[in-house]
Amino acid sequence: MAHHRIKNIALDEDDLDYSDGDDYYGDDGVVEGGDELSAEDQEQMRSGTISVRQALGEQYEGFIIDAQIHEALWHYYYDVGKSVTYLKNQATTPQQAQPTKQQKPKQISKFDQAAAASAAQAPVVSAKSKNGPSPDDVVMQAQAKASASKKQSGQKKDSKSVSGVTNGVSEMSIDDALQPKVKSKHLDVLAEYERSDRKNAASFVVIGHVDHGKSTLMGRLLYDLKVVDQRSIDKLRKEATNIGKSSFALAWVMDATSEERERGVTVDIASNNFETDKTKFTILDAPGHRDFIPNMIAGASQADFAVLVIDAGTNSFEAGLKGQTREHAQLVRSMGCQRVIVAVNKMDSVQWSRDRFEEIQQQIAAFLEKTGFQAKNIAFIPCSGLTGENVVLPAPEAASWYTTSKDTQTLVAALESFQPTKAALDSPLRLPISDVFRGGITNPLSISGKIEAGTLQVGDQILAMPVSETATIKGIEIDGQPAEWAVAGQIITLHLNDIDPIHLRVADVLCDPRKPIRNIKSFTTKLLAFEHVLPMQVDIHRGRLHVPGRITQLLGVLDKSSGEVQKKKPRVVQPGAIARVKVELDAAVPLEVPSRIVLRANGATVAAGLLEQVHA
Ligand code: GDP
Repeated sequence: MAHHRIKNIALDEDDLDYSDGDDYYGDDGVVEGGDELSAEDQEQMRSGTISVRQALGEQYEGFIIDAQIHEALWHYYYDVGKSVTYLKNQATTPQQAQPTKQQKPKQISKFDQAAAASAAQAPVVSAKSKNGPSPDDVVMQAQAKASASKKQSGQKKDSKSVSGVTNGVSEMSIDDALQPKVKSKHLDVLAEYERSDRKNAASFVVIGHVDHGKSTLMGRLLYDLKVVDQRSIDKLRKEATNIGKSSFALAWVMDATSEERERGVTVDIASNNFETDKTKFTILDAPGHRDFIPNMIAGASQADFAVLVIDAGTNSFEAGLKGQTREHAQLVRSMGCQRVIVAVNKMDSVQWSRDRFEEIQQQIAAFLEKTGFQAKNIAFIPCSGLTGENVVLPAPEAASWYTTSKDTQTLVAALESFQPTKAALDSPLRLPISDVFRGGITNPLSISGKIEAGTLQVGDQILAMPVSETATIKGIEIDGQPAEWAVAGQIITLHLNDIDPIHLRVADVLCDPRKPIRNIKSFTTKLLAFEHVLPMQVDIHRGRLHVPGRITQLLGVLDKSSGEVQKKKPRVVQPGAIARVKVELDAAVPLEVPSRIVLRANGATVAAGLLEQVHA
């Protein structure tokens, strides 16, 4: 199974040799005296430091000291990739970074700075996380590190004498055992949610033919909602004008903001956040990324709805309908996305022609309904990403036929009216883990992720799958603020007690112990083929979960519109066709109906599918 293990504790007793009190990290002074970390931590720190140095390369030599590397490795549970990303971002560029070699290596302030900077990068998944932590958080983080080291050194001898680690009880869980139990307030979370003036949360994926204006439209949305400041947009405009493509400035907004946010690397895929008075939105998948289709599938597999962008310009719409418009719409529908807002874009280029809008509306409605969307789940909004008309600002006078109709609304109003379905709130808890990290002394073990279904509150016991280990929710953070409860759709950080970090891995699912998700070894799926599909080896992806397996049976090719079996037991499924197949997995993983999955082989996406039936 290709799980990414955050903390790998797989040691024999022989590995636990504490006799050597040598100081691995010597002069830089983050870990002063090797005896402050367990032998296992020391080894991970030592090999991690070497790997990070290698990954950073000569370019950063002299700009990043070992203390900073240790800090990053500690924070990210020795994850080399994340540590490297963090360190690079922290150093900005070697040119800008101050050489640190000359500085006194054992300065405590240096350590505190590293801890503080690390706290600023703590992967709290939130729209506001880029604002960084409060000064208090920074202090806490620094204290956390110092105190955690002390605690570990105190426990080390104990754990050796009772073979603590080999018994699977890590130092961290001993630590937890000493903490007071968390009491549940037994809140009626659904009632609290109804009563609260908490903003709704919704995420969407942007689809449509190339050049129909997806990036420009999303850039405009972010700009007019003041997610991007005037200075950034002026800078982008200038750069765009310099290369003679001034209209590209808005499109670049998406890339600029997503790049900025990727430093925190938290959510499964590239995304942008923005909020209106009523709702916090996540745009999943920044369009314009080169590897568009796989990104889009990843986005579609988490999206509450899709925004389909159509160019109203003469002939463009027709070309799109033959091209990616069709492909994307089929794709998101086959991935289980039920609702779509059609942005009939570039209306300025057809003088806001009512006839053109209605012609497009008619044809697209017919096409989308054939693809499996219900009429009540489709909305059409005329707009212009370039001028911003009817995006956040109202439609122009030329569109009075629209502004006076009963259906009139801006794109942003349409987005707000497309809330996630309430059904997910009533379902049992499902929370796939996006990240595992140390939240600090009071929160030595934290995870982040998006709640896919159900609700949770402080004091709840939850079950981690596939390992089937329970944990207690000690604290919840939403947008960097403590919370008592959280519901489906929200991206949160959980602080956990009563569980060893070894049991928590990225892509594992936290669930309701009374109604747990099952580990399965095979399933039947309806899929949309991108390549020829045969009985073959594939990697099955769901969010961050990926597990090797095999397509064992081609059960039938299905009619695209009706979903009825057209041909039983085909020998091969052609690209573009929809089929039902059976898949066997190499390892049992937590998956359930109607999860959306992606099948990949040799680095390419072979098909996207929707689980129909699971088998133990
Ligand atoms: P994408 O490939 O779908 O992301 O499309 P872009 O956002 O890169 O836009 C493609 C081209 O269409 C660019 O030259 C844009 O300036 C232009 N464009 C985008 N939106 C509009 C619009 O609302 N009106 C007009 N007239 N042109 C637009």
